[in-house]
Amino acid sequence: MITRRLFCGCLAGGLSLAATAAHAQSTECAVYTPDRLKSTTPDDAIARLKAGNERFTAGKMINCDLMAQVKQTVSNQSPFAAIVGCIDSRVVPELVFDQRIGDVFCARVAGAIVNTDIIGSLEYSVKVVGTKAIVVLGHNFCGAIKAAVDDVKLGNITALLKNFQPALATLTKADGHRDSHNDPLVQKVAEASARMTAVNIVKRSPIIKALVDAKQVKIVAAMHDIKTGKVSWLT
Ligand SMILES: [Zn+2]
Repeated sequence: MITRRLFCGCLAGGLSLAATAAHAQSTECAVYTPDRLKSTTPDDAIARLKAGNERFTAGKMINCDLMAQVKQTVSNQSPFAAIVGCIDSRVVPELVFDQRIGDVFCARVAGAIVNTDIIGSLEYSVKVVGTKAIVVLGHNFCGAIKAAVDDVKLGNITALLKNFQPALATLTKADGHRDSHNDPLVQKVAEASARMTAVNIVKRSPIIKALVDAKQVKIVAAMHDIKTGKVSWLT
């Protein structure tokens, strides 16, 4: 009898867990539609990315049917977030936020900087499509930031690294020797750059500024830790 009761209890618990997992999966795997995007707030969008990164770091990514999502997004796409990230192979936004087909716009360039083309792309995402959040995703031990700290001169990289001059200007004597082996200094520049890039997007785009002022879009800077996979949100 005891055995039977335990068995029934375990079975019921197992079914309940399976039902919960299935529910979570069906919610997370549902592609965004224009109507669903309209009812999503900027805070919802950020919360979804935070939850995705928690799943990623916990090793509990959701396994959706990607080909089903491919078919469901043929006629339109309605990504809820746009991410400006680095080209670094260890910082793949769709993976670290556990997102899939049709979920996020992604612009990647060394050091996660923005230029006219990327800002234009962001304007398309928030103004035309209705995306609710823009995330500038920097990361630690960034090669582009290290190169900027060392003032590397090489081909077109020289021009690219000029984008980090404002962040480099935040350094003081207290930060120590300006050298890419100075990890805290590199991290300070990376965080400053992510914050400044987030501010620059608003400064350089009246279209995006209007949407931010109307609280229809939120822009946030964040840092990915390549040692842990965790994303920290900068204020
Ligand atoms: Zn990088």
